[in-house]
Amino acid sequence: MQFSLGAFEPIADRVYVAVAEPEAVNIGLVVGTTGALLVDTGSSPEQGAAIRGAAQAIAGDVQLTHVLVTHGHYDHVGGLPAFADLTTLAHRDLGAEVTRSFGLAAAVDLGDCHAELIHYGRGHTDHDVTVVVAARKVAFFGDLLESAQPPQAGEDAWPADWPRSLDGTLGALQKGYVVVPGHGPVMEREDAFVQRAELHWHHDKAVELYDAGREASGAWAEEGWPWPQEATEAYLAQCLRRLTESGRPRTKARTLPLLNR
Ligand SMILES: [Zn+2]
Repeated sequence: MQFSLGAFEPIADRVYVAVAEPEAVNIGLVVGTTGALLVDTGSSPEQGAAIRGAAQAIAGDVQLTHVLVTHGHYDHVGGLPAFADLTTLAHRDLGAEVTRSFGLAAAVDLGDCHAELIHYGRGHTDHDVTVVVAARKVAFFGDLLESAQPPQAGEDAWPADWPRSLDGTLGALQKGYVVVPGHGPVMEREDAFVQRAELHWHHDKAVELYDAGREASGAWAEEGWPWPQEATEAYLAQCLRRLTESGRPRTKARTLPLLNR
């Protein structure tokens, strides 16, 4: 695995993003007047230490005080040991030790601004946390959104709940907000709305396949899917896995009575 860390680049007033490899994960930094918040920690303790050094250099006289882990995938949580003496925060189901865990929401006071850390429900995992810094018009979404490739649904993802969980944060964003996905360049608010619709649409298509007793493979060739074949089929496969687990009865395709004659 190749580990590297790009420079923290400004994306809003005293808000920065650095890209850490492997996985090209976005590491966020919000600098206030009495403290600074890091969003996600990289892939290993050594990388976490490198991120800490780079973040503190950007923050200058303001101490890095808080670290939020958006979810428990290794590229986001792996650097956490490098921040053990700071206030580390995550949803209580993260699966790693932090100093402050929560079920729904927490707030971090950084002096001239504060960050709201919110869990709206299941999506990319069952414990995703988004970060909204209203005073800077910036929001971090972890892997609930991705801009370099379609969102990834592993076996711990909950596609049926995902769009609604996004709504809690997306709905509160005013025009001009900078949206930071877990991977890839920052997004416009409108691009995030489009991706939310794509996620919902894919799940609807998966329900159609499920009701027809079909698998994900082969479906891609028949529709104008917005994502590449591999990403679409992986996403559909996870939708179908969850539908099967749920024991949901298969319903017949709805057809207008007139057409049944
Ligand atoms: Zn992830």
